Amino acid sequence: EKIGFAVVGLGKLALGQVLPAFGEAHAAKLAAVVSGNAEKAERVAAGAGLPRDAIYSYDSFDRIADDPRIQVVYIILPNALHADWTVRAFEAGKHVLCEKPMATSAADCQRMIDAAKAADRKLMIAYRCQYEPHNLEAMRRMRSGAIGAPRMVATDNGRPSDPSDPSDQWRLDRELSGGGALMDIGIYGINAARYLLNEEPVEVRAWTYTPKDDPRFDETPDVIGWQFRMPSGVLVNGSTSFSYHGTSRLEVMGEKGRLVLDPATNYRGIEMQLHGAEGERQPRIQAVDQFAREMDWMAQAVRGNRPIVSPGGEGMQDIRLMEAVFESLRKDGAPVRTDWNYARALDP
Ligand code: NAD
Repeated sequence: EKIGFAVVGLGKLALGQVLPAFGEAHAAKLAAVVSGNAEKAERVAAGAGLPRDAIYSYDSFDRIADDPRIQVVYIILPNALHADWTVRAFEAGKHVLCEKPMATSAADCQRMIDAAKAADRKLMIAYRCQYEPHNLEAMRRMRSGAIGAPRMVATDNGRPSDPSDPSDQWRLDRELSGGGALMDIGIYGINAARYLLNEEPVEVRAWTYTPKDDPRFDETPDVIGWQFRMPSGVLVNGSTSFSYHGTSRLEVMGEKGRLVLDPATNYRGIEMQLHGAEGERQPRIQAVDQFAREMDWMAQAVRGNRPIVSPGGEGMQDIRLMEAVFESLRKDGAPVRTDWNYARALDP
């Protein structure tokens, strides 16, 4: 029997990627939809073959407590809403898969972690790249020394935002997004630097380039360039933007080679290259539906067959690091210490 998921929020990601991915999933199935738009919810439920009593509104949501078809609540709402909805889902006795970024403050992350504990339910943050075969292969190559000792990481994630698209409007809103491009896609580079190097930044500094005459950036910064210093000494140079040309790039320069993921985070078409003594190689890696794999992982974790490898603590670490980036921006690039002794649990 597959594990039943209730999807909260029927926006771009839910409709474009997540609902279709249930068709590829082996252990997870769509059991209910939760939406503020009754007409859309009915249309989507009918299309997915769900009965009418599997449609919940934001008001009737808490009644999922009495619905045994639902084991997991998958939260796909604007960032600032993740914390309250996660707490509500735990109060209804369900497990939670929550989209990245986990929340818009470390305090909210802590609230989510505490609620999971109180309910004795599982919390997984939807870092799909931690379940994606190219990124997983990159982790393995790093651990096995394929490029020798790493010296430097470069990571850049940006795209032009479109203020006429409702899905970008909240991303440019400070309150709802928690901070523009960094929270939305810069987070991929921060997370990846950590899982590729398997160590945590001890110091952060950041600058921004935010054009004064671009109304998209009245509330949130545009380009942010940041640096992390790792305990080993390795440096990470990152950037993010909601105005530069679509970019999703990750490179690790090691003493014996260079590992490149470009594009590194796309839904489809991720590519990996290894440069070294033998020249350039492109390992053959079978692509999968990342969302199906991630939901199946959550389903297996609920069954007790797998550990959660991207738990609340992992989501909170990125939020705390992004808060440090914003703090450095406010101090015009002054270094901010981040050596609070977090350690990642394990690789997928
Ligand atoms: P979206 O704007 O397309 O969808 C959000 C949905 O939330 C909409 O249906 C909207 O109606 C609803 N909503 C409810 N309350 C709202 C409010 N107060 N203000 C605005 N909308 C409200 O956004 P999206 O692109 O689907 O992103 C949703 C979440 O998924 C975000 O947290 C985002 O970071 C995450 N996301 C993750 C990935 C990934 O690859 N893992 C990709 C895209 C988005």
